[in-house]
Amino acid sequence: MIIDAHLHFSKIKKFTHTAKTVSKVSYSLAGLAAEMKQNRVVAAVGMGLQETKAALFPDKTIPTPMLLDLDENPKSLYACPGINPYKLNKKSLSSLELLLKNPKTVGIKLYSGYYHFHLFDKVYGPVYELAAKYKMPIVSHGGGTYSHLGLYRYSHPLDVEEAAYQFPKINFIIAHLGNPWIYETAELVYMKPNIFADLSGLIVADSKGVKETASEKVFTERYRSAVITCGAYEKLLYGSDWPLAPMKAYIAFIEKLIPEKHKHKVFYKNALNVFPRLKIQS
Ligand SMILES: [Zn+2]
Repeated sequence: MIIDAHLHFSKIKKFTHTAKTVSKVSYSLAGLAAEMKQNRVVAAVGMGLQETKAALFPDKTIPTPMLLDLDENPKSLYACPGINPYKLNKKSLSSLELLLKNPKTVGIKLYSGYYHFHLFDKVYGPVYELAAKYKMPIVSHGGGTYSHLGLYRYSHPLDVEEAAYQFPKINFIIAHLGNPWIYETAELVYMKPNIFADLSGLIVADSKGVKETASEKVFTERYRSAVITCGAYEKLLYGSDWPLAPMKAYIAFIEKLIPEKHKHKVFYKNALNVFPRLKIQS
């Protein structure tokens, strides 16, 4: 059994386009249900994201909280509502708080790098207050952005270190192992009790996945080396970033990075610890 701790289920032009042209994924309710079933993915966490018009992401005008608006959400899909720091006011914060009371909400997603604010900027103060009140982890985008409009100085893992230091009661999850700062992320996950990482989005793949050519071996080896450097297998989470890769190919890729005896933790158990609200539906 697998829990996918990071995927998408929102009407975002870039995702629809990648699903059609690269990953060849059916980016739909039926497509999600079929891939989850085929790959024994019993629960998934969707990262809330929306744009007011096609291809506008990162959108400064979209209201907070951003949701999973592709279609009706399946029962096994949980959510981390997304925050637009340009739209944080009394009204949006009370909508966010209402969502945090919903049992299907398991965390909060911040789009560091896409939005040009440091994670420790005071603009996020009220969000952290709510995260602490409802015991919600913060998932923070880490590293390279899937848009040329991102600024990497705001998505460096050392930003998470500062925020995690200032808010020691909140757990932070660095998405994408902070790629390309994977060794920096590995060190933080190893050393800091309230920093975790997910392994999503390291490759954008089609159904053939990562092949064993020489260059791809080097590429895979780099991630494996960072994961070994980290060594804290109880703090790493499997996530696919679906629809950017088919689930089957992405699972096969992550399996290459994780030693056999730690697979159950990374692919399943850790997600239940980090997202305490997440329950497996029978
Ligand atoms: Zn993502």
